[in-house]
Amino acid sequence: MVHEIKSNTYSVYFDQQLKVLADFLDRNSYSKIFILTDRNTGEHCLPVLLKALPNLSNYDLVEIDPGEENKNIDFCIGIWKMLLDFGADRKSLMINLGGGVITDIGGFAASTFKRGMDFIQVPTTLLSQVDASVGGKTGIDMDGVKNIIGTFTQPKAVFISTIFLNTLAERQVVSGFAEMVKHGLIYDRDYFNRLLTTSPLAIDEKLIFHSVTIKNAVVTEDPTEKGLRKILNFGHTIGHAVESYALADGTLPLLHGEAIAIGMICEAYLSHRFNGMGKEDLDTIVQYIYQLFPAYHFDAAIYESLFTYMVNDKKNTNGNIGFALLKQIGKCQYDHYLEKEAIMESLDFYCSLHN
Ligand code: NAD
Repeated sequence: MVHEIKSNTYSVYFDQQLKVLADFLDRNSYSKIFILTDRNTGEHCLPVLLKALPNLSNYDLVEIDPGEENKNIDFCIGIWKMLLDFGADRKSLMINLGGGVITDIGGFAASTFKRGMDFIQVPTTLLSQVDASVGGKTGIDMDGVKNIIGTFTQPKAVFISTIFLNTLAERQVVSGFAEMVKHGLIYDRDYFNRLLTTSPLAIDEKLIFHSVTIKNAVVTEDPTEKGLRKILNFGHTIGHAVESYALADGTLPLLHGEAIAIGMICEAYLSHRFNGMGKEDLDTIVQYIYQLFPAYHFDAAIYESLFTYMVNDKKNTNGNIGFALLKQIGKCQYDHYLEKEAIMESLDFYCSLHN
């Protein structure tokens, strides 16, 4: 059974067998088709994709190394070069087959090549299915700062099949679950309550569908993050800083969702202190997230580095650090600008949980 969520300009299809994708390719006569994978999705997901597309005999494969550390301009140039060498033009299509790294860098490479060629997203991690592949944010990291270069460009379509998740490592599944938790926290208390009683390893298409419905509702109303879309940044101001720090530090790499989980704890604390969220909601959020995701042990020695990453975050204006804060579970507000001391206090709060 195929389910569809419509956005302003494209649809997200939930289709186990990817038949809609096969029809999409048959219907559109692209001059050339490129499939972008990383080494892991090339091994695990490409055979699944090709099996679902028996009519696809002619395509060029572009493969990059896996991992956030490769979501950068060097790999992007590599993709552009391949597109050029293999004769891509504006009538060509790029199929991004992978997690958020592939959908982000592939979307960016396609949206800028010859001022834009079509691309579709075939997300293969939980995180990219519920979040990264939907909403048209494309991008790469630079100098350790997350997603600092990028575009808002919508894909032609998104095709979600949970079959891909069969080969995904458990840690990656749990990481993706963090963004689902965020969707409940910012938008839908009932959904959050449902997640409270669901193991991340037992999620099904219905829950993924619900998360995408929430993300799609928000980004359809505000595609370029002028207002409402900022609520999706809950947990990400501090989370991105922790993720960037861990990436640069290299000693203990954190997955995106793991960093966002830390960010959500800190920003739930800020929501309680500075946005009127009740203590009961804070306790519920902190107890739940802290037991579900791995703890990251740091102390005050790295606060300044984290703060520098936050200052460089692209969501800021005039050097002010902007937050999306909860009013209560299920309701979020944006454009809260907080002082350095408040941010430090929230880091103290996170660190105090280990003691
Ligand atoms: P990822 O793309 O690095 O994938 C995680 C790992 O799983 C990789 O090693 C990958 O090779 C492997 N993998 C992927 N699918 C697999 C499968 N089916 N079977 C086996 N292995 C598989 O990471 P991610 O967590 O999917 O995405 C994180 C990225 O998404 C970050 O760069 C983040 O900034 C970005 N993101 C973007 C948005 C957006 O709106 N554009 C939103 C959220 C996150």
